[in-house]
Amino acid sequence: MSADPGRRVPHVLILGGTTEARGLAEALAGTAGTPGTPGTPGTPYRVTTSLAGRVAAPVLPPGESRIGGFGGPEGLAAWLRAHAVSAVVDATHPFAGRMSFHAAAAAAATGVPVLALRRPAWAPVPGDVWHRVPDLAAAAAAVPGLGGRVFLTTGRMGLAAFAHLDEPWFLVRSVDPPQAPMPPRTEVLLARGPFTLADERALLRGHRIDVLVTKDSGGSATAPKLTAAREAGVPVVVVDRPAVPTGVPVAESVGAALELLARTLS
Ligand code: NAP
Repeated sequence: MSADPGRRVPHVLILGGTTEARGLAEALAGTAGTPGTPGTPGTPYRVTTSLAGRVAAPVLPPGESRIGGFGGPEGLAAWLRAHAVSAVVDATHPFAGRMSFHAAAAAAATGVPVLALRRPAWAPVPGDVWHRVPDLAAAAAAVPGLGGRVFLTTGRMGLAAFAHLDEPWFLVRSVDPPQAPMPPRTEVLLARGPFTLADERALLRGHRIDVLVTKDSGGSATAPKLTAAREAGVPVVVVDRPAVPTGVPVAESVGAALELLARTLS
């Protein structure tokens, strides 16, 4: 796309909260541009990243930022109009199912194009002992039959689904302290990823973990725990991703999203 002085600078709203959202903001801000796509130095883009506000001290990406909910799909639609947004990139976490549907609805209401940036799901490799379940409730139902010392990595917002389990011991890792309800026998480990394979091996061994529970988040930042579990013969309960809105084009990497965005805005 060539720079045209008479043309309005396209305003891209990134719905963020993920490593990919940050990567896209960096690329669009021109710090990691790919030739021929948005983000190329000299190609002006106005970029705003929106964060839900779940993390107390978020690391803000380049460009503009806003924090907090929009007030449902109608609130998001009003924001898109008020801020003359040219395109929305839903780069929220694969398990942020509600926001993705709000983005699709707001896009349909305003005519602003939307695309999704979703890292691919994980796939098991030989040696993995995975139990795939459809949701957190099913994960909680599976845990007692698999082990008594559980490494629970499904995020502090999902702890309530396990709160009725008073027999297993849980190790919960999260960025900010979780709040009740949570299982009575819970130890909290405050930490922010990414975590190395050495970290995860030491954690499983040190806490004598015999079952791991994870969402199928995909990506490399939190994948070493799966490798460590495979090596240790620890079974993994894997919660499947929620459905994505139909009709929204999906890019699986920052590079693919840049290309899709360039085509969308050309
Ligand atoms: P959710 O259930 O899909 O969304 C709940 C509400 O939070 C939405 O209706 C929206 O409020 C607000 N919201 C969500 N993402 C937002 C964003 N990027 N900017 C502004 N408002 C947003 O989402 P969630 O599972 O609570 O996740 C919240 C955020 O944490 C997401 O941005 C996601 O990328 C990030 N995150 C989630 C997970 C996870 O496992 N769910 C993991 C890592 C990071 P309004 O209706 O008021 O607009």
